This record gives sequence, structure tokens and C-alpha cells, in this order.
Amino acid sequence: MIFSTPILVVIALLAILVVGRIITSPEAPGRIAFGLAAVASIWWIAMVLLRLNSVELSDKILFSRLAWFGIIATPLFWSAGFLDHAGFSQVSRRLPITIMLSISALAGFAALTDGYHHWIYTGILNEQRPSFSHGWLFYTLLGGMYLCMLLACLMSISQLKRAARLHRRQMVALLVATCVPWGCNAAFNLFGFRLFDDDPTPFAFAATVLAVLFAQQRGKLFIAPPIARDIIFSILPDPIVVLEPSGLVLETNPAAEKLTGFSAETVGTKLPPSHPLMALIARDTQTETGKPIVHFDAMEKIFEVSVQPLEQWGRRGSMMVVLRDVTAREAAQKSLSDAGRALELRLEENLRLHEQLKQQAFHDHLTGLFNRRHASTVIPPLISGASENAPVSLIILDLDHFKQVNDRYGHDVGDKVLSTFAMILSDGLQGAEMAFRYGGEEFLVVLPATTRDQALEWCARRRHALASHTIDELKHVELSFSAGIALAPHAGTSLEACTKAADVALYRAKISGRNTDIVWGEHLDRMVPEGPADPRNAGDRSARRGKAG
Ligand code: GH3
Ligand code: MG
Ligand code: MG
Repeated sequence: MIFSTPILVVIALLAILVVGRIITSPEAPGRIAFGLAAVASIWWIAMVLLRLNSVELSDKILFSRLAWFGIIATPLFWSAGFLDHAGFSQVSRRLPITIMLSISALAGFAALTDGYHHWIYTGILNEQRPSFSHGWLFYTLLGGMYLCMLLACLMSISQLKRAARLHRRQMVALLVATCVPWGCNAAFNLFGFRLFDDDPTPFAFAATVLAVLFAQQRGKLFIAPPIARDIIFSILPDPIVVLEPSGLVLETNPAAEKLTGFSAETVGTKLPPSHPLMALIARDTQTETGKPIVHFDAMEKIFEVSVQPLEQWGRRGSMMVVLRDVTAREAAQKSLSDAGRALELRLEENLRLHEQLKQQAFHDHLTGLFNRRHASTVIPPLISGASENAPVSLIILDLDHFKQVNDRYGHDVGDKVLSTFAMILSDGLQGAEMAFRYGGEEFLVVLPATTRDQALEWCARRRHALASHTIDELKHVELSFSAGIALAPHAGTSLEACTKAADVALYRAKISGRNTDIVWGEHLDRMVPEGPADPRNAGDRSARRGKAG
């Protein structure tokens, strides 16, 4: 046959074109493996055509043997390309490709040396074509190739469920494309179907492989989904790490390479036990509420982590970790909570000040007793509830010759006396009984439901207590007080009337020699009942009290 030379030239050009296409084509999945399958199938076709064109039997046998490089390499690389497209990209790495090339080379070598061992061809059946009887290696290799393609188909089918709709359509198309050479080979072997009076398989392979490459080159859609997925993975700003429970890093994206302890070479190595992600592995992230937080102290960053278990695809406990930089969010949250805490503290301080102010508003700061203002609020209701059967005693107590204490021992000692006296007055008060600091050294005590005698007794007990109390600075000074007692309602039904009456009684106590208690309405013949006769009103309050000296 004379057409062999131009055909071989065309085939050689085609092979160069395919290789060129592979080099220049975009990073489509399975590109390298499909390209090698195309070259192998072209080699196979070339050998078939050369054999057809040969006259000598020895030449025909030689080309039949040489064809084995392509017979084995074509389905091997086709399967690899198919698997790569279905997501098993590991098959397109250097090592598997080298292994496949080696298997093809060994098969070719076995075929070339068949004259010595006859493992492939045991004898010639038809010298014209020629056709052979086959040995064990023939069936082993053929079975292996069929198994290889079957495995590729099954593994791809297993991935169909996970694939996106468009990608799934492509996988189905590839599955169908696989059936073409397969069908041709089965038709040739089982029913003697021939093309150019020979096996149609290499032509079918070449046609489908070239169709796939063309589709990858031209139909951008055909390659888009898997590529887009790869691009997403590589341009995603969030670090993604696939880890085994031992800390072995199976996969990272470029963003993860910026994490502490990571680099472009981290895949395949183990993370040190001190690595923040190792603490994450140890944690039971399944039961955690919300997404776990991991601190990368060395890079001063905080990441929120999504953990996706990958047990279905990896070893038990394998996980995909997607990290999201939440440093800014956490910092904002912290300053918010700090501000909240500061506000809380200020509120507490305000409440404390408010409480203090309230205290100060009703209390005398020196003695701690209630002040006069408070008396005007709390005593009137008590007085209005007084009756002849349950009188309310109002007692005004005034320290005798107190000015002398101040003058002789100093104001501080005077203060001490005031505090001591206040303590004596408030000691043992019960229920609604209350003591007030009414003026400088003047105190007011209200005793509800207290009779005249009980009031006098109360005063006597306090007098005794004051006399027996020793103040260091006043060891030789005997302190005393005078008291005026008014009983409501007898002395009046208002606070004003009662204090006036008690004041009159006190005045009486002072002029009768001090250190005594007088009940209003006794021992004095109503000398100042109510109104203008009150010496306080008359403006000579000091005049009514004799001076010590
Ligand atoms: P009498 O027996 O007549 O009551 O004589 P007295 O000296 O106690 O009375 P007077 O009204 O002459 O003097 C009262 C003194 O109380 C005058 C004032 O300096 C003093 N005094 C008033 N308030 C305070 C105070 O808060 N601390 C001190 N240390 N002295 C006070
Ligand atoms: Mg006094
Ligand atoms: Mg006084």
C-alpha cells in the first residue's frame, strides 16, 4: 500500500499537534493523561498502518509487536485522565504517570522479545493479516487493561453524586466516550468487526481522546467547573487545611501557607504538638456550641474554625479545617465588653455615691445619728398616732457646760464627747425608737409608746451610762446632761408643739441646776405653753442657760 508514507506523515503531524496542544492548553483536569493517551493511540494506529503496508511477514510481526507500547499505554492513560477529571487528581502526579509509562514500556519490551519466550503470541494463525494464537501474558495484559478501565468507570460513577450538575454531565459524557473504544474492542474480539481489515480499537481511542482534548480546548464550559473549584480553593482568602488526627497535613491552600508553622512544603509533614491546630484536634469540636476559636499568638491573630469531618474520604478522624480571621471582630467585642464593664463600674460607683449622699442627707456625719431634717420627716407620723394610753415621749438632751470642754480640752475632745454621747443615746434603741442630733451639743430622742416614768427611767439610765463612761482625755471631768421631756398628745399633737414643750422643760432643767430631767407640765406652771413665750423665738436662747465657770 503506497498511502502509508503520507498517512504516517499526517499521523506524525497529528501527534506533534496533540503534544503542542497539551503543552499550551489550560490547566484542565486529566489534561496530561488524556494527552499521553492520544499520543499512545496515535502510535498504535501508526503501527497498525505500517503493518498493513508491509509485505514481509517478519515486518508485519515486528509492527504488531511494536504496537504493544500503544495497546497498553492508551487505555492506561485514558483511565488516568478519566479519574483525574472525576476528582482523583493524584493519578496525574509524576509518580503514577512514571509507573504507567514503565508498565507500557515493559509490555512493549515483552512484545519485542516475544520471539524468545512466546508469552504474548504462541503461534501465527493467519500470515496475511497476520493473526496470532495468544499466550498467558496477552490475556494478563488485556485483562489488566479492561480491569483498569472498569475501575476508572466505577470510581467515577461513585463520584457522580458529589459532582455539581454541569460537571456530572461531563463525567457521564466521558463514561459514554469510554464505551466507544471498549465496544469496538469487544466487537473486534468477539464478532471479528474490523476497520482496514484490522482491530478498530486504536482508531476509536484516537477519535475519543482527540474529541475530549478538543472539548477541553474549545468548550470552556467543559473544563470550567473543576477548574473553577481549584481556583476557588487557591484564591480563597480563608486558610483551609486538611489534617489527619496524627497532625499529618494532607492538603493546604495558599492562604494556609501564611499561618504560623505552615509553608509551601507543609503538605506531607506533621504539625508539632505545640501547634494551635493540634489543640483543636484534641478538642471535641462536635459538641462545642458555636464555632471554635483558635488563637495564633505568634501572628497575633484569632481564627474562627469550621471543622468538616472527612472520614468518608480519609483516615478515621481526618478533617478539613476552614479558618476565618476574626481578629478584628474579637478585638471589637473585647473593647465593647471592656466598655460595658467600665460602665458597670461607673454605675456601681454612682450607686455608691447616691447611697452615700442619701446617708449624708439623713445622717449627721460626726455622730452617725439621724439629723434634724430626718426628724421632721419621721417624727410627725409617730406623734399623730400618739394617744393618752400610748403616749410618745420626745426628749431633748443637752450636755452641761459643754463649751468648757471645748475651751479646756480642745474641739477634737469635744467631738469625741459628742460621739460618745450619741453612742450612749442610740445604744439599745428598739423598734421605732430613734435618736437625732438636733443641734450642736443638743440631741433629740423619740420613744413611741413610752410613759412619763419610762421616759424618766430611760434618761436616768443614760445619765448613769454617761457618768460611768471614761474618756481618756477627760478622766477627772464628770460629764452630765440635762433633759426636757414632752409627752404627746398631752404636750401637743405636732412636732413643733412637742419640741417647744421639751425645750421649755430643758430650760427648766438647766435653770434648776442642770444634770436633771424635767417633764413638761410638771414643776412648772405652764410658764411657756406654746407660741411667742418660747425663749428660742425670743432670740435669747443662750440667756436661758446658765454658764459654767
Ligand atoms: P449649758 O450647760 O448651758 O448647755 O452650757 P454649754 O456650754 O453646754 O452651752 P453653750 O450653748 O454655751 O455652748 C455650746 C457649745 O457647743 C458651743 C459650741 O462651741 C459647742 N459646739 C457646738 N457644736 C459642736 C461640735 O460639733 N463640736 C464641738 N467640739 N463643739 C461644738
Ligand atoms: Mg450645753
Ligand atoms: Mg446647748
